[in-house]
Amino acid sequence: MKAGIIYDAIYLEHDTGDHVENSRRLVETMSYLKETGIMEKLVPLSARPASLEELEMIHSPNHISYVKSIAERGGGWLDPDTVMSPKSYEAALYAAGGLLVAVEAVMKGEVDNAFALVRPPGHHAVRDRAMGFCIFNNVAIAARFALTKFNLNRVLIADFDVHHGNGTQDAFYADPEVLYFSTHQYPYYPGTGWINEVGTGEGEGFTVNFPMTAGWGDEEYLRAFNEVLGPAARRFQPQLILVSAGFDPHWADQLAMMQVTITGFARMAMILKELAAELCQGRLIFTLEGGYNLQVVASSVRNIFDVLLGNPEVDDPLGKAPAARKLEGFDEHMEAIKRTHHLEG
Ligand SMILES: [Zn+2]
Repeated sequence: MKAGIIYDAIYLEHDTGDHVENSRRLVETMSYLKETGIMEKLVPLSARPASLEELEMIHSPNHISYVKSIAERGGGWLDPDTVMSPKSYEAALYAAGGLLVAVEAVMKGEVDNAFALVRPPGHHAVRDRAMGFCIFNNVAIAARFALTKFNLNRVLIADFDVHHGNGTQDAFYADPEVLYFSTHQYPYYPGTGWINEVGTGEGEGFTVNFPMTAGWGDEEYLRAFNEVLGPAARRFQPQLILVSAGFDPHWADQLAMMQVTITGFARMAMILKELAAELCQGRLIFTLEGGYNLQVVASSVRNIFDVLLGNPEVDDPLGKAPAARKLEGFDEHMEAIKRTHHLEG
């Protein structure tokens, strides 16, 4: 197995100061990958900036030029959560472009799969504006790029970040060529992602939301993956799987209230890898979204690379949630989601 890693020092130049989404997330992760010896098993792929034409597949020219002008003015706040430094525009171009390099490498068979360690993250960014630490929607641009450049008809985006990927959902809400599946804490930021948001027009049925009640953990996430994502993916028959990997559902993450473990993330990655092997010649690309506990991010990324390389051993230095407990209501919730998407039997 050849697993690609996309990383560029420009990602550290998106300087957010003491914001939770800061460059230490990547610095720690990269040094952990080196320390644990996994880096030397990976194929390094050089990021490139996305072109304006590529960005405009998802974003309006106004949004792009606005972001550029804020960087030229020395930075500033794009929304109450999203800050820019002078180099943030360039970093954001390379974050989107990094994922495009991953798509090219996987589609051409230069690597079997890949993980793009990029920032700023992307899944909240909508056509006309930045949102929730995200400037451009990296994964949405990559999906559109794969459809256009490689003449695909079906791309699956699976998003396990604790927040709903409203920007990604928006981008493909009326589009049957992209199946968007998301697990996320609900109710929570950004407020979208209820079960009844299923797409519209020709895209109806191609948005699958699995909202999660605060406190649920590995068992509920793995059931969502096995009982909803799996059957939905088999029905859809993707030609490529993209994953918005956010590690903020971890019990030790400071932003949200889910109880997923590092082992849980590795198991989700195994399910995704098996689906990719079964459905699309193993074509699988992860991209970093959220996750704010530095040890959780570093360790989870390392385990996912192990999964991508075919090593089933999981190293979970933080272990189980101290307050893990069985919560009510999951079975009924699962039934409602299966009914909504005609996944019974
Ligand atoms: Zn998040």
